[in-house]
Amino acid sequence: MNFPPNIQHVLLDIEGTTCPVNFVSDTLFPYANNHLLPFLEQHRFETPIRTLIAEIQAAWKEDSSPEAQALARSIQKNRDFAASSDQAELTPEDACLYLQWLIQQDRKLTPLKDLQGMIWEEGYQHGQLVAPLFSDVPSALKRWHREGLTLSVYSSGSIQAQKLLYSYSNVGDLSHLLSNWFDTRTGPKNEAASYRSIAQQLRTQPEQIAFISDSPSELRAAHSAGIDAFFSRRPGNPVLHAEGFPIVESFSEA
Ligand SMILES: [Mg+2]
Repeated sequence: MNFPPNIQHVLLDIEGTTCPVNFVSDTLFPYANNHLLPFLEQHRFETPIRTLIAEIQAAWKEDSSPEAQALARSIQKNRDFAASSDQAELTPEDACLYLQWLIQQDRKLTPLKDLQGMIWEEGYQHGQLVAPLFSDVPSALKRWHREGLTLSVYSSGSIQAQKLLYSYSNVGDLSHLLSNWFDTRTGPKNEAASYRSIAQQLRTQPEQIAFISDSPSELRAAHSAGIDAFFSRRPGNPVLHAEGFPIVESFSEA
C-alpha cells in the first residue's frame, strides 16, 4: 500500500496487523507459563531474579484477596511466610503458586510482566520463539523506511515485548526500521487522547500520521484525534466490520 503525500509517519498495531492475532495468546503466553518454574529455578541465585522474587513476595503479602491469603496460608505450614519473617525467601515453587493464580485471574502484576519479558527474551535468543510476521510486512517496512516515512509501533504488549518481536522475526532483526515504540503507558488504545499524545511525542500533526489496526474502536479513537486510520483485515482475525475505514489486506504495493 501507498499513503497520501501528507503522510510522514506510519503507526502500526501488531496483533492482527503485522503478526497473526493468536501468536501472543497461543504461543507467547503459554510459553511464559510453561517456563515460569524452570526459569526461576535456573536463575534463582542471580540478583535480578532474587529481587523479582522478593517483589512477588511483597505483593502477595499485601494482596487482600481472600483466595491469595488462603494460598499463602497453604504454604505456611512448611515455612514462616506471611506471619513475621521477611528473611524467609519464597522458593520458586511457592512463587509460582501465586503467579499461576494471578494468571488464572487475569491479574496484572509488574514483577509477573517483567518475568514474562525475561522468559520471552531467553526463548527468542535460544531460537525457541520466532515472531511470524505476515509475509508482505518485512518488504513494506523496508520500502516505507527507504521512502523516508517514520515507522512506529503502538501495541498493548510491553515495549520490551514489541522490540523482541521485531528483533527475532521470521526474517531476522527488523527492529532498526522502527523509530518509536508506544504501549499502554501512553494510554488506552481506544482513547483519542492517547493518539494526540503520540502525535505530540512524534512532534507532528495528527494529519501526518497513518494508523493501521484491526480494531475498529482503536481506529475510531485515532480518527477522532485527526489521524488517518486504516482497517487491517488479515487471516485469523475475528470477522469485524471495517466501519467505513479503508481496508488493508496486504502492505504490498499492488
Ligand atoms: Mg490488533
